[in-house]
Formats: sequence, structure tokens, C-alpha cells
Amino acid sequence: MDFFKPLDLSKNSQKPDVESIEKVHCLIIGSGPAGYTAAIYASRANLKPVLYTGLQMGGQLTTTTEVDNFPGYPNGTNGPAMMEDFRKQAERFGTDIRFGIATKVDFSGKTHKVTIDDNKIVEADTVIIATGATARYLGLEAESRYSGMGVSACATCDGFFYKGKDVAVVGGGDTAAEEATYLAGLCRKVYMIVRRNVLRASKSLQEEVLNHPKIEILWEHQAIDLFGEKGVEGVVLVKKKGTSQEEIVKVKIDGFFLAIGHTPNSEIFRDFLETDETGYIKTLPGSTKTKVPGVFAAGDVQDAVYRQAVTAAGSGCMAAIDAERYLSECH
Ligand code: FAD
Ligand code: NAP
Repeated sequence: MDFFKPLDLSKNSQKPDVESIEKVHCLIIGSGPAGYTAAIYASRANLKPVLYTGLQMGGQLTTTTEVDNFPGYPNGTNGPAMMEDFRKQAERFGTDIRFGIATKVDFSGKTHKVTIDDNKIVEADTVIIATGATARYLGLEAESRYSGMGVSACATCDGFFYKGKDVAVVGGGDTAAEEATYLAGLCRKVYMIVRRNVLRASKSLQEEVLNHPKIEILWEHQAIDLFGEKGVEGVVLVKKKGTSQEEIVKVKIDGFFLAIGHTPNSEIFRDFLETDETGYIKTLPGSTKTKVPGVFAAGDVQDAVYRQAVTAAGSGCMAAIDAERYLSECH
């Protein structure tokens, strides 16, 4: 099978100054829906998993108040409460949950070495990587000022709250085009804020947005600020920046959606695992297996397409089952 290209691992031997070494059957990196679900399944399968939470205990959903599309919550829930439920369920079956960050890995041997907080090595028979992805923002101060008050990086998650309202989507790629089309099905008006005079999106998605009666593209516009009393009420744009026709434009909107890409949290794994050009970890189609036997990837870190809590949880379950089967075949 040539799904994965061979890599030269000779340059990656790792010799950190470590205080301690611990051996575990199953190490889970990340505490979002993928990591916690993997932990629930792995602990029930008696793999005695150890899970390191990373800096953001509970993952991306801890940054949102309303989650309305995760099955099992008929009245919706809020992100932090939902992730507390995940954690408690993983702990109920005995997962050893610890605060710590994986800072380095060495996947060159049969036992996989993961350095935690630069001072401890965990030697694991199996590793489940569930480190998620981070949405890119423009870096405007207004994005944090209006966080949870009209600024979102996920139309599928938050679009519903803007039913019948006016919104803007920043970006001109496939994600922006898909999100603009999705929002146009809910909202009164959708502006696409595109910094160039062309879209990067594929031709078919371009046609959808160009021909949609509710979508208006603001070509060669860049967002520089947001305004509003209690939440977003509008965006300040600069049109044709750096030209003699440069001008400042204000557009009234209720929601400001970023769709300028995501960065998968895969940097420390890239010397050992195959990733796509953006950094998403490649897994064997239909499984969570990476190029390295015994190392599995689940959730947003390996999913450039769906990026939802329920899909992350589903692949966390798959990773634990893949790890259990690997251990029973090899040990
Ligand atoms: P994440 O949730 O991103 O978790 C990654 C975990 O890895 C974190 O715990 C982090 O601390 C840890 N980590 C990262 N690096 C390291 C490291 N080096 N060492 C140790 N740990 C590490 N989806 C929905 O289905 N419905 C919604 O309503 C919804 N709303 C959203 C609202 C917002 C504002 C955002 C940003 C996303 C939303 N999503 C929603 C998307 C959803 O949150 C993600 O698809 C999901 O959280 C992905 O889960 P994950 O477990 O793969 O990763
Ligand atoms: P992307 O292709 O990198 O596009 C990002 C868009 O955001 C580009 O239009 C870019 O503008 C713009 N942008 C980036 N930084 C910006 C900034 N600071 N200010 C303003 N605009 C900015 O990202 P993506 O759309 O998320 O897609 C990622 C990958 O997933 C792509 O390979 C894509 O094909 C794939 N994908 C596919 C589908 C599908 O096939 N259905 C759906 C979603 C995603 P410029 O064009 O000027 O650089």
C-alpha cells in the first residue's frame, strides 16, 4: 500500500533532559470530544489510558456557550458543561486525566515516546493524538471584544442564531463559499468579504455564491474593526487598500463569521507522521491509523472537512477500538 510515503526518521532521535519515565498501554493527547471519547472506550476496554489535557481542558467547545447540535441534549447545552460531562464519563471508567502538554515525540521505535511539559517521558504502546485544530482569526482586537457576541469561526455551529438576520463571512476559499451558502439558507443577507478580486474557491462553489440571490461579494475589502453596543452591529472595512481609490466603508451586520482557514495542532508530530499541505494528519481511509503502527489520530487534527464535535467524538471511539485491536494483535 502506498498511501503513506516512507519518511527519514534518522534525524529525529530525541534526547531531552527528563526527570522521569513512565510506561503506559495507551496515551491520549487532548481533552476535546475526540480525546475524551477515546478515553471512555479505552478505559472500558481496560487499556488503562492516561490522558493529557493540554492547555485547553475540554477543547474548543469550552469557548462557546450554546451547543444545539450534539445528539442527546434535546434542549441544547453549553460547551463547558458538555465537556465536563465528557470528562466525568471518562473518569467514571478509570481514565487517568492529567494536566500537561505534549511537547515532543519520538515515534521511531516500537514503543512510542512522548515528552510531557519538557520534563517527563511517557513510553506508550499506543498513542491517540486528539489535539484538534485552531480556527484562524484576523487578529483584530474587536474579534476578542465581541467573542461570543456576534463573532464566530463556525457557521454550522452558530448560523442558527442568525436566522433572518444579516451576516458577513470573511474569506474567499472553499470554506467561506460553503459557509456563505449555508448561512444564505438561514439569514436574510450574507456579505462575503474577499480581500482580492478573485475567489480561491473551486469553480462549482464559486458559481453557487456568485449566483445566490442572498449573497453579495464585497471584492477587495478587508475588515479592520467591528462596532455595536451589546454585540456586533456592523463591520468597518477598507476597500481597495493601498490604491488611489482606497476608502473606508461601514456595513451593518449582526454576525461576523471567519472562514480564513484552520491550523491543525500537529506541529510536534510532523517529523514522524504524514500530513497534508495544511498540516492535517493523514490517516488510512476509514480508520484512525497513521503511518506509524500503534499511533492513531482522531478528531479535528485529522479532519479538514467535517470539524464537528460529533464527528470528533466518533473518530475518538474509532481510535480507541483501533488501539485495542492493535494491542491484542501485537502483545
Ligand atoms: P479540540 O476540541 O480542538 O480539542 C483539542 C484538545 O487537544 C484540547 O484539549 C487541547 O488542550 C489539546 N491539545 C492541543 N495540543 C496539545 C498538546 N501539545 N498536548 C496536549 N494536549 C493538546 N462543533 C459542533 O459540533 N457543534 C457546535 O455547536 C460547535 N460550536 C463551536 C463553537 C466554536 C466557537 C468553535 C471554535 C468550535 C465549535 N465546534 C462545534 C467545533 C468543535 O468544537 C470541534 O469540531 C471539536 O471540538 C473538535 O474536537 P477535538 O477533540 O478534535 O479537538
Ligand atoms: P483556504 O483555501 O486557505 O482559503 C482561505 C481564504 O481566506 C482565502 O480566500 C484567503 O484569501 C482568505 N484569507 C486568508 N487569510 C486572510 C486574511 N488575513 N484576511 C482576509 N482573507 C484571508 O482555506 P479554506 O477555505 O478553509 O480551505 C482549506 C482547504 O480545505 C482547501 O484545500 C480547500 O479546498 C479545502 N476545502 C474543501 C471543501 C470542499 O471541497 N467542499 C470545503 C472546505 C474546504 P486569498 O485567496 O487572498 O489568499
